[in-house]
Amino acid sequence: MIRITDILDRISTYHPGADLDLVERAYVYSARIHEGQVRLSGEPYLSHPLEVAGLLTKLRLDTVSVAAGLLHDALEDTNATAEELTELFGPHVTHIVGGVTKLSRLSFRSSEARQAESVRKMILAMADDIRVILIKLCDRLHNMRTLRFHTERKQIKIAQETFDIYAPIANRLGIYWMKDELEDISFMYLFPHEYRDIENQVARKKEEQQAYIDNIKEMIHKKMAEAHLDGEVQGRHKHFYGIYQKMMAQQVSFDDVYDILGFRVILDTVQQCYEALGVMHSIWKPIAKRFKDYIGIPKPNMYQSLHTTVIGPFGERVEIQIRTREMDHVARDGIAAHWQYKEGAAADRKAGKVFAWLRKLVEEQKHVKDPNEFMETVRIELFPNEVYVFTPRGDVLTLPKAATPVDFAYAIHSEVGNQCMGAKVDGRMVPLKYELKTGQRVEIITSSNHRPSKDWLSFVKTAKARSRIRQHIKAEERKQSLALGREMCEKAFRKYHLSFNKCLKSGDIEKAVQELGYKTADDLIAGVGYGKVTPLQVVRYFVPKSELTEPRKTIVGRLKERIHRQKPKSGILVKGVNDILVRYGKCCNPLPGDPVVGYITRGQGITVHRTTCPHALSMDSARRIELQWAPEVDELYPVKIHVLCHDKMGLLASITGALSEAGANILDADVKTRADSRAECYFTVAVSGAKHLEEIMKCVNRIRHVIKVTRTAA
Ligand code: MN
Repeated sequence: MIRITDILDRISTYHPGADLDLVERAYVYSARIHEGQVRLSGEPYLSHPLEVAGLLTKLRLDTVSVAAGLLHDALEDTNATAEELTELFGPHVTHIVGGVTKLSRLSFRSSEARQAESVRKMILAMADDIRVILIKLCDRLHNMRTLRFHTERKQIKIAQETFDIYAPIANRLGIYWMKDELEDISFMYLFPHEYRDIENQVARKKEEQQAYIDNIKEMIHKKMAEAHLDGEVQGRHKHFYGIYQKMMAQQVSFDDVYDILGFRVILDTVQQCYEALGVMHSIWKPIAKRFKDYIGIPKPNMYQSLHTTVIGPFGERVEIQIRTREMDHVARDGIAAHWQYKEGAAADRKAGKVFAWLRKLVEEQKHVKDPNEFMETVRIELFPNEVYVFTPRGDVLTLPKAATPVDFAYAIHSEVGNQCMGAKVDGRMVPLKYELKTGQRVEIITSSNHRPSKDWLSFVKTAKARSRIRQHIKAEERKQSLALGREMCEKAFRKYHLSFNKCLKSGDIEKAVQELGYKTADDLIAGVGYGKVTPLQVVRYFVPKSELTEPRKTIVGRLKERIHRQKPKSGILVKGVNDILVRYGKCCNPLPGDPVVGYITRGQGITVHRTTCPHALSMDSARRIELQWAPEVDELYPVKIHVLCHDKMGLLASITGALSEAGANILDADVKTRADSRAECYFTVAVSGAKHLEEIMKCVNRIRHVIKVTRTAA
C-alpha cells in the first residue's frame, strides 16, 4: 500500500512549493471518515483513495486533484457532506468530488455496442471539469487492479464496462498507458483462456526476444551515432490485448505476429526526429503506406510522433516510433500532460499553444491568465450540441441540444411519438416543449386516442419527429377532406335524385375517376374536399346533359367566379389543416387582412366570415374553426363600396377615374340620385385585400363633393 509520505514526496519533485498542507489535511480527514471500513481484499478502505491519489501523482496532477482523489468516495460512502468539504477544502475540491460522485451514481446498461458510444459521451459531457474524468479513470484502474476479490459475475460485468466505456475514454484522452492496462485487465477477465495463452507464449519467447531487442537497439544506436544523433532507444512488447487484436485481424497464430515488438527513439528536437527517420530508412527498407507523420499532422488529442514500419534484419516487420521528449510525455499522459503542473510564465505561453485544440472546448478560457487559475476554473463542454438522457430501462439516448420530450418519444418509436400526451423528467411532470438536459431520466405518457399537434413543429429539434408529425397531419387532412368531399358529392347527387353511395358501390364512379385524372375513387372524393374538383364536375358523368341545370348567373356573378377561379386555392389557412375548400360569407364579404373566423357548413366546406359579422356571431360554436390569412395572397376579391356625394356634373367620371388609378377594377356600378340633390353610388370593385380597399376608399374620399365612403356588407 502506498503511503501518504510517498505521495507528498512525488508532488514535491514535480511541483516544488506546492500546497502540501491541502493534501495532508485531505488525507487525515479521509482516514477519519473511512475508519473501520474494509475493502473486499481485507485491507483498510483508506488504501483505495490512497492508491487513486498515487495514480494521480503519476499523472503529475495539481494538489487540488490529489486532494479530491483522496476524498473521491467521501460523499458516496461516508457521512461527509458537501458543506463540510467546502468548509474544509474549498469549493474546487468539493466541486470535483461532487462530479465524481455524480458519475458513480449513473447506472447504465453498457452491454450493447451501440449504447457504449452514447454512454462514453454522456460521461464526458456530465463532467464539467476534466479532472473529474481523470480521477474517475484512476478510480477505475485501481478497482480493476483489485478485481480478483469480487465474484465472477461482478468481475465480468465490471470488466465489460471498463472495456466498453473507460478504456476508450482513456484512449480518446490520449492516456495510452492507462488505456493499455485497462484493456489488458478487462481482457484477462473476459477472455481468460486467450489471455493465458498469450501470456505463456510471451514468457516462452522471452529470452529469445530480449536478445533480439538488444540486437536491434544496438544497431540503431550505432547508426545514429554515425549521423551524430544522440537519443534514447526503447524496445518493448505490445500489450497483450494489442497482440490478440493483431492475431484476430490478421487471422494468424502468435508465432506469425511479427510486430509484437515495438521500438521507440526519443530525441531532443523535431529536426533530429526527421533525421533519425532517414537513418532508420537507410538501415532497413520501409514498408510503403505504413509511414505516418503525426508530427506534421498531430492526432486530435495532440499526440505527436513519427511512425514507420520497416523490414528488419530477419525479414520481419519492425515498428518504430520517433519523437521528442516533450512529445513522449504527451504520448504517455495525454490530456493529463496539459493539466500537469508547469513552472513559471514560460509554461503559460507554451500552454497557449498546446491547449489550442482544447480551448475550443473550454468555456470562459479568455478571462484566464495564470495557469493555476486556468486549472481551477476550467469547465469542459466536449459535446456542446448534444444531450444524453436515460430511458426508463436505463438505455442512453443521444439527442440534439434543446431536444424536447416529443423528440425523445419519436426517437423511441413513431407510435410513442404520435400518442405522446405528457412527459415526466426525473419523476416530475414537465411540459412537452421542456428542454432536456444530460443525465435526466425521461418517461413518456401515452394515450391511444392522442394525436400529434401542429404546434409541436414549432419546438421539436429532430428531423424524425418533424417528418413524423408532418406525415400525421397530412393523413389527418386527407381524412377530413375525404369526409367533406363525400358529403358534398352526396348532396350534389341527391339534387338529381341519384345516390352517390350506389354509384360508388357499383363502380360506376370509375369513369369519372379516370377522366378527371385520379387514381382511386377516394382520391377523387378527397379532391372534392380539397376544392380541386367541384361536385358538379363529378355528377356531370351521371346526368344527361339536358338535365344539368346551372344557376343563372349575373355578369357580376360570373366575373366573381372568374376572379376566384384564377387561383382555386384560397388565401385562407385553416389552423391544423391546409388546402381545404373554403367559401366566403356573402353577408360580410371578408377580404385578406380582415380578422376572420370560419364555420363548417355541411356539404359546402368552410365558410369564412369577418369576426364582426352578426350572422357569424349567432352560429353554433361547435362548428367554429380558427382561420388565418396566408402571408401572401395574390388573388383578387370583389367588394362593394357605397359613396354618398353631392350630385355634380362629372363627379361619376372623377370617382371611376380615381378607382382605376388606385388599381381597382370596377366590376359593377349603380348610381341613384336623391331628392336632396345628393347621389348614392354603389361600386363593386376587385381588390387584393383590406389594405388595398382602405387605400381606394381614401382616394375616393379626397375627391371634392364626396361626402362619405363606406364598405358595405354585400
Ligand atoms: Mn473509488
